[in-house]
Amino acid sequence: MAQPSDFHSFRHGQFDITVLSDGDISLGGEMFAPEGNAEERAEILRRLGGDGGTANAQSNIPLIVTGHEVILVDVGAGNRFQPSEGKLEGNLRAVGVDPGDITTIVISHAHPDHIWGMLRDDGSLRFPNARCFVGWEEWNFWNGEAAGALPEGMQPFVQGARRDLMAITERMTLVADGDEIVPGIKVLATPGHTPGHISLVLEGEVPLIVTVDATASEIVSFEHPDWSFGFDMQPDLAVRTRHALLERAAAENAKLLGFHWTYPGVGRIEKTAEGYRFHGVATAKVPS
Ligand SMILES: [Zn+2]
Repeated sequence: MAQPSDFHSFRHGQFDITVLSDGDISLGGEMFAPEGNAEERAEILRRLGGDGGTANAQSNIPLIVTGHEVILVDVGAGNRFQPSEGKLEGNLRAVGVDPGDITTIVISHAHPDHIWGMLRDDGSLRFPNARCFVGWEEWNFWNGEAAGALPEGMQPFVQGARRDLMAITERMTLVADGDEIVPGIKVLATPGHTPGHISLVLEGEVPLIVTVDATASEIVSFEHPDWSFGFDMQPDLAVRTRHALLERAAAENAKLLGFHWTYPGVGRIEKTAEGYRFHGVATAKVPS
């Protein structure tokens, strides 16, 4: 079992942050870099530590503690999506936090790897005492006609999003760009990956931006900011959003935390002639 010291922890302003893991998913080069050619895809997979055809995309979930608030950004996939996921609860317990201790959950977007961990098999809430924050555009999208009209293959995503969003209706606050979650944490609207995708900005000496899937890959999103990610639902909007986010992050020398990046997915970016380059804190073995 993982030990507390196995996890990457750091202090940012008034926040104590521990990067937990929900596991990983194995993706092919066509998902990491839809616009890349065969050689570029192979090189990206190699740099991510993958073999010939795939590499692992991590699920890094920050646990943020400030005052009496114990906050999770997303809840992982539970046991409903990929068998390599669903490790969040065990890792939370490994750092001494009971699911009932979580006071606040921010859902970045309603894709399976981010929200399907909301419920246990018996339909009860995994985090029974948490209030939840969801982007109102995200809520409207998944519960609206456009989601219902998505292709057949996407309907399991729609059903899952509706199931988990409905389950938290009574404890949910819908938020928009600039809204405050708790003092020092604000919503940054980053639409495109999904229509209502949100990131978070945490105050500190420099901002810490929890980008989630607005920058899905620490290689492709920075070195090829014009390329989409395979799961981007509105690729053109996602690219515009990404450029704005990266420009801001570089200008403010912001610290970044990414969901699918090599664990622990924390670092900064530097502007280069072609785009940006990511400088991560030393990568660590994923605790398990
Ligand atoms: Zn994701």
